[in-house]
Amino acid sequence: MIPDEVTKLAKQLVSIPSETTRSNAAISDFLQSWLQEHGFTVERLSYVDALGEEKVNLIAKLGNGKGGLGFFSHSDTVHGDPCGWNPFDPVIQQDKLIGRGCCDMKGPLAATLIAAATAAHGQLSKPVYLVTTADEENGHVGARYIIEHSALLEDNWPENAIVAEPTGMVPVYAHKGGALITVTAHGKAAHTSTEKGVSANFIIAPFLADMAALVPVFRNTERFKNHEFNPPTNGFNMTIDDGNCRPNVTAAKTVVRLSLRLMPNDHHDEQMAMIEDKAKAYGLEVEHRILEPFYISPDAEVIQTACRVTGIPKAVTVSYGTEAEAYQKFTEPVILGPGSIEQAHTKGEWIDIEQLQKAVAVFSKMIELLCK
Ligand SMILES: [Zn+2]
Repeated sequence: MIPDEVTKLAKQLVSIPSETTRSNAAISDFLQSWLQEHGFTVERLSYVDALGEEKVNLIAKLGNGKGGLGFFSHSDTVHGDPCGWNPFDPVIQQDKLIGRGCCDMKGPLAATLIAAATAAHGQLSKPVYLVTTADEENGHVGARYIIEHSALLEDNWPENAIVAEPTGMVPVYAHKGGALITVTAHGKAAHTSTEKGVSANFIIAPFLADMAALVPVFRNTERFKNHEFNPPTNGFNMTIDDGNCRPNVTAAKTVVRLSLRLMPNDHHDEQMAMIEDKAKAYGLEVEHRILEPFYISPDAEVIQTACRVTGIPKAVTVSYGTEAEAYQKFTEPVILGPGSIEQAHTKGEWIDIEQLQKAVAVFSKMIELLCK
């Protein structure tokens, strides 16, 4: 198979490593030049992350006026995991492109670039935006950064947006969010022969029993469910870390992490309070981190347009998260992109080339309809 324009571009992007733990400056340099060569105005927003790595976000605009359509992607990937394959040496095998990030989400990003750059901009009255963020795989840090700092977007957000994460080209109007509650108990480490220790595990044990009792409550209570999602429940989970303490030593510290996949209208504030109030009653340390669920009306213009153009009768909900949760206050996003989420983060990650090409056609049509 001879690679076409979108496959070639996706291949180039995959061959520039941009794992979240490292800087994405190199791939951003490539993207910035490409966008400028194709007539975009580009704003570059960088910050230095906790590990001292430079992280780059790009906001690009083509065309004049207000409103329009924005394509939102991330340029970071999960770890390449080089054992058994060459993650950054992309290959085409039969009808697939294989390499780290070709599905999540450099292939989809390439499709948005080709569609946006080749649209008949002279005939459009509204602009097209193209945004690439850093640190999507690390709590959407880059997305939050551009919301706060972008001069190009400030007061100028596009009316509609496509978050081009892999959905198999099925429009998505809602997804679950996430809450991570961290509960910590402090004990005192000592050899058990001395009887001088205090085990953090025994301190936290009654709290663990209370959490086990919450499992059926969260799973079976109707007000904690949302039947727009499959499954309609929040995947309540718990992990325990006592630093791999040896049996003849008392644990100095035990950290319990509890997670919920938040949904709109699932009364998760109540569920979080049920967990945190228990922890506080036992005198344990508590903190939490939240990624909001994403939801827009399935009747929104961008969803309806996406359904019409893809020929999919009804938009769906999914259980995984995207940066749409951060953008939904400013624009109306649909999540729509080529590739299957099941391929994301896997060794041997691949994307179907035919689907990449289909994505270019769909995105081009969406620009035509939403920017005219
Ligand atoms: Zn992604």
